[in-house]
Order: sequence, then C-alpha cells, then structure tokens
Amino acid sequence: MYKTLSGREPAAGILENAKRIISKMERKPTLAIVLVGNDPASELYVRKKIQKAASVGMKTVLERLPEQVRQDELLSLVRVLNHDDDIDGFIVQSPLPKHIDYSTVVEAIDPKKDVDGWTSTNIGRMFLGISEAYMPATPMGVMKILDYYGVEIRGSNATVVGRGNVVGKPLAFMLLQKDATVTICHSKTKDLKSHLADADIIIAAAGKPGLIKADMVKEGAHIIDVGTNSVGGKTIGDVDFESVIKKANCSPVPGGVGPMTVAMLISNCVEAAIRKRR
Ligand code: NAP
Repeated sequence: MYKTLSGREPAAGILENAKRIISKMERKPTLAIVLVGNDPASELYVRKKIQKAASVGMKTVLERLPEQVRQDELLSLVRVLNHDDDIDGFIVQSPLPKHIDYSTVVEAIDPKKDVDGWTSTNIGRMFLGISEAYMPATPMGVMKILDYYGVEIRGSNATVVGRGNVVGKPLAFMLLQKDATVTICHSKTKDLKSHLADADIIIAAAGKPGLIKADMVKEGAHIIDVGTNSVGGKTIGDVDFESVIKKANCSPVPGGVGPMTVAMLISNCVEAAIRKRR
C-alpha cells in the first residue's frame, strides 16, 4: 500500500500558523464572503470557510444575495466591499447563476482584497513572479501538499489533467516554476494514458469521476486529486482511489485538497490584513 497524501495535517499546520499571527494582531483580520443563491455545495463550502476562519480568530462577514440578483447589483456590492475599510479580503463564492458573468465580477474585485487570487492582476503577477501576488488558493494548496510530503518537483515529469483557469493552468505554471517538466492534458488530448505513464507527479483537475485508474499511472507516482464530483450523494475525485493507492501515493477526496484550499484562503487573508496595516 502506498501513502495517502492527506491534506488535513498540512492544513492544520497552516491554520495553526495563521492563529499564532492573528493572536498578536490588535485588530483581527476580516474576510467577507459573497454567496449568491442557495446552491447546497456552495452553502457547505461557505460554512466550512466561516468555521475555519473563526477557529483561528479571523472575523467573517457573510453577504447573501438572492439567486435572481442582477449583475449590476452584485457589482455594486463588490464596489462597497472594495472600499470598506473593515474588510481585509473577500471572495465571491462560485458558481454564480448563469445570468451573471463570473469574470466581470471577479475583475471588479480590488486585487489587494482578492484573497482567492483570481483577478487578472494577481494571475499576471503570479506569472511574472511579482511578490505581492495572491496565489490562487487551490493550486497553492496542491503545491503545499507536495511540499509537506517531501515530493521532489525539480526535474520530475508532471502531468496536469485539466486546463481550467482556476486549477489546471495556474498549477502547470507553479510546477514549471519549481523546475518540473510539465505536460498539460485536456478534453481533446488523444491518448491520456500515454501522457500519464511516465509522470512522477499527476494532478487530476478535470471534474470527471474515476477518470484516472491504476493501469494508467506509474508505480510509486505522487497523485493529487483536485476533482470534486458529486455521485449518488457522495463526493468523489477524478482518481479511482481504491485501485490507485495500491500502486501510487494519492490524495483522498474528501480530505485532500479541500482542507488545503480553505487554509490557503485564510492564509491569503491574513497576508492581506498584514499588508493593509503596513
Ligand atoms: P474546469 O474549468 O471545468 O476545467 C476542467 C478541465 O478538465 C478542462 O480543461 C477540460 O478540458 C478538462 N477535461 C474534461 N474532461 C477531460 C478528460 N476526459 N480528459 C482530460 N481532461 C478533461 O474545472 P475547474 O474549475 O478547473 O475544476 C476542476 C475540478 O476541480 C472540478 O471537479 C472542481 O470541482 C474541482 N475543484 C476543487 C476545488 C477544491 O477546493 N477541492 C477547488 C476548485 C475546483 P477542456 O479545456 O478541453 O474543456
């Protein structure tokens, strides 16, 4: 049996560090979360973010808007939060209803308060290696898991399955920055198996349940499963964990990347609060 690359332990360390920093701050950092509608998965994610923030002494403000909210009303709220001096950072929980253009909303967020790291300013800064970038929380969480388990990235072959703006693309870049030789696969990739066969590191971020099976991966590889798929009332990843763990090291779903995403969001908000008080 190979190692289960749990995200719970590294996340606990990051949260402990955030708690220590916050305990020394006179004014506690405040994270605002904008939640549109009542999507059950989003409700759950937001609850977790609020709970974890509270556990480290961070204040949170939940701004709820109805499903039918107009885009201009949502943009007005974003502008209010941009200018609210009591808010250090905020996020707009995705997904948004179909009548709202997500990128327009994200681009309206002040990059200094963009603790999800999704604005083009922060993505651009990340690509250019400018230090004040807020790194996107999920890809950064994946990199921290690899680091926690001592996975050698330099010189490795890394295959990222998925080229989404939120996970796949930033991760491919982060792995490249750490000197991996990176292959990016997507829905038009002709022979996924051939691109996985020689990979020392595999990042699964396609949103396709059970896409990656044991016969596709190299013995002893390190696999991080970002996929979060709801199947028959259960949350499962993109990797067939039961079979793959007999051949390679793999993060579980749930309990892998999820806790790290929340921890990195909180860590970014602490950083935003520190910068604001400088
Ligand atoms: P996305 O933007 O929809 O991207 C999915 C990517 O997967 C696309 O690039 C798509 O290719 C590719 N793809 C689809 N089917 C494929 C196949 N059969 N083989 C290879 N590639 C395939 O999704 P995302 O936002 O990046 O999210 C990816 C997954 O991560 C989802 O399950 C999401 O729920 C999860 N997620 C988890 C967290 C967390 O905190 N745990 C955070 C964010 C996202 P094309 O580009 O060709 O369409």
